[in-house]
Amino acid sequence: MRRMTARPANAHQARLLRLLRDGGPNSRAQMGDQIDLSRSKLAVEVDRLLETGLVVADGLAASRGGRRSHNIRLAPGLRFLGVDIGATSVDVAVTNAELEVLGHLNHPMDVREGPVAVFERILEMAAKLRAAGLAEGFDGAGIGVPGPVRFPEGVPVAPPIMPGWDGFPVREALSQELGCPVMVDNDVNLMAMGEQHAGVARSVGDFLCVKIGTGIGCGIVVGGEVHRGVTGSAGDIGHIRVEADGRACACGNKGCLEAHFSGAALTQDALEAARSGRSPALAARLEAAGQLSAVDVAAAAAVGDAAALELIREGGNRVGQVIAGLVSFFNPALVVIGGGVTGLGHTLLASIRSQVYRQSLPLATGNLPIVLGELGPTAGVIGAARLISDHVFSPA
Ligand SMILES: [Zn+2]
Repeated sequence: MRRMTARPANAHQARLLRLLRDGGPNSRAQMGDQIDLSRSKLAVEVDRLLETGLVVADGLAASRGGRRSHNIRLAPGLRFLGVDIGATSVDVAVTNAELEVLGHLNHPMDVREGPVAVFERILEMAAKLRAAGLAEGFDGAGIGVPGPVRFPEGVPVAPPIMPGWDGFPVREALSQELGCPVMVDNDVNLMAMGEQHAGVARSVGDFLCVKIGTGIGCGIVVGGEVHRGVTGSAGDIGHIRVEADGRACACGNKGCLEAHFSGAALTQDALEAARSGRSPALAARLEAAGQLSAVDVAAAAAVGDAAALELIREGGNRVGQVIAGLVSFFNPALVVIGGGVTGLGHTLLASIRSQVYRQSLPLATGNLPIVLGELGPTAGVIGAARLISDHVFSPA
């Protein structure tokens, strides 16, 4: 069933809605200070928003002298669905209008099963969240996919790790199924938006967010906005060549960064280290579980296994080399490292940092923090909710 959500009528209203989303309930006076509208104009726009039901009066604001007024807040019944489709699992969360996560589910799933099977799973999870009483319906849904997306049509384009998704109308299909507006973006961009809204990049205008999961990508935030490039493939750094005649990559080229270091490449290297006898710790874990992943490499490194530590260091060096180039080019205020391999923790971070600080100019790195993301798997779903809220909170 389609839920009819009002949309702001003009840019002033849109800014007020986003202000309330990012800062929570606020008084008319304080909102007026922040968006530079005359008192009378602000009163008109707030009254119109109250009529749409998108905002409500909420408690008395602190007095600034004179008559006390009510605080304004976003309607408490507004609900966004945030979906983060990974290569090996899917996260689905429901948030309120301030993008606070009210419920969050994760389910293992192989993205290669294709859109129909994956959508079925997502709809099931969304229904479960509704049945738990967290939402009556959704006012919008944001979807992240692990590959390049033609934005704003919401269509994945030739995604190397998502066979079967090329050209699939994700936005249109899910909008029909969910009965609400849907926006689709690359998972890395959503992670950047999530860390910017509620994580380590709060209030940072220019930063890079490097996600190292099954693949590698980079969210680029410029002046507070995600930079997607002309066709939506900006930040696809996993396919930058790091070895002249290197390993074959899923994209068809050779020597790409993610063919040498990513969750998938690391699994391969870990298996080899275990089978060749170079890593007793990985061999023991392989024997016990029958398979290996980045988690095992982290565990082996934690007990001092030399081969595991070397894998992490080497990978960090390769990523660091690419990030050093990006830092020289972009001069960010912050570099955030996130994704499945962040479990490799300090060893990975240390080798990335040493490469970047060694290779980039002091003016670019002098005050440059390179840090792990703060939100983990929540970053993607909050970013997805943020994406769709930007759409819903903009003039129709
Ligand atoms: Zn490639």
